[in-house]
Amino acid sequence: MTELTELTITQALAALQAGDVTSRELTRAYLDRIEKLDARLHAFLHVDPGRALAQADEADRKRSAGDPAPLLGMPLAVKDVLTVEGMPCTCGSKILEGYVPPFTATAVRRLLEAGVVVLGKTNTDEFAMGSSTENSAYGVTHNPWDAARVPGGSSGGSAAAVAAELAPGALGTDTGGSIRQPSSFCGVTGLKPTYGRVSRYGLVAYGSSLDCPGPLAHNAEDAALLFSSMAGKDPLDATSVDVPAPEIRLSNGNLKGMTVGAPKEYFIKGIQAEVEAKVRAAIDQLADLGAEIVEISLPHTEYALPVYYLIAPAEASSNLARYDGIRYGPREAAESMWDVFYKTRGQRFGPEVERRIMLGTYALSAGYYDAYYGQAQKVRTLIKRDFEQAFEHVDVIACPVAPTTAFKIGAHGDDPLAMYLEDIFSLPANLAGIPGLSFPVGFDAQGLPVGMQLMGRHFHEAGLLQTAHIYQQATDWHLHRPALAD
Ligand code: GLN
Repeated sequence: MTELTELTITQALAALQAGDVTSRELTRAYLDRIEKLDARLHAFLHVDPGRALAQADEADRKRSAGDPAPLLGMPLAVKDVLTVEGMPCTCGSKILEGYVPPFTATAVRRLLEAGVVVLGKTNTDEFAMGSSTENSAYGVTHNPWDAARVPGGSSGGSAAAVAAELAPGALGTDTGGSIRQPSSFCGVTGLKPTYGRVSRYGLVAYGSSLDCPGPLAHNAEDAALLFSSMAGKDPLDATSVDVPAPEIRLSNGNLKGMTVGAPKEYFIKGIQAEVEAKVRAAIDQLADLGAEIVEISLPHTEYALPVYYLIAPAEASSNLARYDGIRYGPREAAESMWDVFYKTRGQRFGPEVERRIMLGTYALSAGYYDAYYGQAQKVRTLIKRDFEQAFEHVDVIACPVAPTTAFKIGAHGDDPLAMYLEDIFSLPANLAGIPGLSFPVGFDAQGLPVGMQLMGRHFHEAGLLQTAHIYQQATDWHLHRPALAD
């Protein structure tokens, strides 16, 4: 018999609707599996069984009363940088230890209104700064495919939770790849929406001009369901865009009439051979499904890394100024106010966060502003134009998500630049504000998942999800699950 936790969101919703299962049974099944496996994986920072079961009972009551909410009774995990009223929110940082937000992020609130049950909060690099979840102050998350390896980051807890069937779907956030890269490392499907399409209200700010909440799930169909319930204008986020939340109806079929661009700058020396081979094979498969493949050029790609690592830390240094030991979380005692700031920040921020604050403060300081931050903003525009020009000729762009598969825990421990290089193919979409989707297209020789990325025009999420859906109808990479002996 299929275990309840093996179901996709689409399948579980059908079972709920048919009355074959209750939300309580489904939620219980996930809570039991978390209880059994999460001591090993450490995907969650906080699990709230009582609250989840109460929400599940409420969902079951509503269903019997005929409530048509689209995700009624569906369990979900939430990355611990999104607030949920009354649930601890640490952002993987000691500086927010014990902080319990009195409000709920809009993305989460919309999903709650659509009926979801929140299982708990998932592990993340501190303030979402990282590519491996190793920067969490609460310990690393282990990759369900190989516990000696990282799950990617910063939404590593969410990706591991979905891959290990501890949740049928999860929310992540993506500032420079943090939904797509862990999705690739864990073999799940993750969508970074267009900037502004999903409200940032209640998402603890990292890089405000880059941050996007988005879904992780087992396939494009499930990601589409979560995404359409999260998106839409929000008066609480001035940068949210007034484009209605899409109702995405995915259809089966082929890709005839579609043009897919393969950017030559994304197939470069240094990328793991199997990653290139699997992504090229997946592009061939898109051609077999009817798409026309053309080689394109995004000439400013090589500048994305330095541009991002100026802009993101600059924004972070400003956003993190509010953590002073007075307004949020714990306070280190000291004589003067300045010493309170100094001690609280000095003792409670981790080394990567401190590095970003120093980088960002330097790039913004008078005398260096034009040379670094100002220049980076100009080059950001060139990167955005590369995409605009490409999308005059192609419908979507297909390329790797990351240059490697999941690396060993500790592999980049004393080399932050090597860690930053993991982001080389995911940063451009954030700089341009366009949507990106990551989904599994094979395994390397170690049995680790390889992901492919599709990027599209602003607000073209449906096109990316549709393309991946047709690919997933023709292939079974997204059906593989890690063997987790009980
Ligand atoms: N790895 C990138 C960084 O460290 C991206 C993180 C993210 O998308 N939140 O900034």
